[in-house]
Amino acid sequence: MYSELGISDKVLRLSEETERKLQERFRKIDETAEYNQLKVLSAMQKNRLQEGHFAATTGYGYNDSGREALEQIYADTFRTEAALVRPQITCGTHALAVALFSSVRPGDEILSPVGAPYDTLQEVIGIRPSKGSLAEWGVTYRQVELLPDGGFDYEGIRAALKSRTKFVTIQRSKGYSDRRTLSPESIGELISFIKGIRPDVICMVDNCYGEFVTEKEPSEFGADMIVGSLIKNPGGGLAPVGGYICGTKECVEQCAYRLSAPGLGQEVGANLGQMPALLQGFFLAPTVTAAALKTAVFAANLYEGLGFSVHPSASEPRYDIIQAIRLGTPERLVAFCGGIQAGAPVDSFVTPEPWDMPGYDDPVIMASGSFVSGSSIELSADGPLREPYNVYFQGGLTYPHGKFGIMKSLQFLLDENLVKL
Ligand SMILES: *Cc1c(COP(=O)(O)O)cnc(C)c1O
Repeated sequence: MYSELGISDKVLRLSEETERKLQERFRKIDETAEYNQLKVLSAMQKNRLQEGHFAATTGYGYNDSGREALEQIYADTFRTEAALVRPQITCGTHALAVALFSSVRPGDEILSPVGAPYDTLQEVIGIRPSKGSLAEWGVTYRQVELLPDGGFDYEGIRAALKSRTKFVTIQRSKGYSDRRTLSPESIGELISFIKGIRPDVICMVDNCYGEFVTEKEPSEFGADMIVGSLIKNPGGGLAPVGGYICGTKECVEQCAYRLSAPGLGQEVGANLGQMPALLQGFFLAPTVTAAALKTAVFAANLYEGLGFSVHPSASEPRYDIIQAIRLGTPERLVAFCGGIQAGAPVDSFVTPEPWDMPGYDDPVIMASGSFVSGSSIELSADGPLREPYNVYFQGGLTYPHGKFGIMKSLQFLLDENLVKL
């Protein structure tokens, strides 16, 4: 089958050799998935999930028992008091914007103690001028960089916590940067340091790509809110749209009033027939996340073996599903993405090209042949066309497909003489 699908003997042999060394890593990933599967299952049982919860509602969506069950299942799984999980949250950025806008008022300040946030959030906050940003509402922003070794700059953070600081945003995943991804434990240390100085500030974690990678989420280490997208890990590949905010009752209530309207809050929002996908997706999410993690570990080992700098390295522990490979040239970045696209189940016949995406500073190339448009729990690769030409990829609904996509990327590099085996 591999040769029929255009994989050469060379790439196949190298892949099989790489995979043989990974059995112990894979076993650990399966153990985490096993634990998380039980976590989700237990929440579903506790909330007496039943067929009636799958019914579609329309209009206002008052008394939507499916939606209420879904939200309580998220809250119980992520060990929070409350949750807002909705198809009306259009994406991760929207969920994060709701959390930010609901928590601050004019004159307040937001602090990021872990360097610059994800590109799209920079426009929400107004770090890059943008219509409707928090900056336009008179909310200011301050950031403290991570130390060169990746640690927290505790003294810098102490100095940056002003009396106006109301909200702290902590991004777990590295996103499109070169820093490390933060473990839930280390996020917990950061939060207790901050709360030790200012117990009243709201600490939110951008948990995108982190869900189910570890047994515990940042909400179990003191975060007031964790926020993410349903077309990443927690949607399990089935959710067609949506975002979540899990956190304290107080924070989630504020978010609900911002998402719908003051006075309405969580009581409205028809489920539009999405409950089967959102619930079943969450049920599958732990094993789907495991497939994505195995794909990332496989790729890191394969490319590191070829002399590329990979991030995280082949042997490092992981706290999100993103893998970065420093490809060094724009040609390699384009070829890598071409290979991922050619290995996809959908749109395998098209060629990805760099473009100026809304919300991003540099042209970005994206490879994604997914069942859910733009889904990045499905195997997808992207990278901004800037030094050092890192490709960031993530996903793989199944490990066999993730592995194949990575093999295909290497095949494309090889066919264009951009790498030597
Ligand atoms: C994907 C992502 C976002 C934004 O999510 P979208 O669904 O693309 O809007 C925010 N932060 C991080 C770290 C992400 O990975």
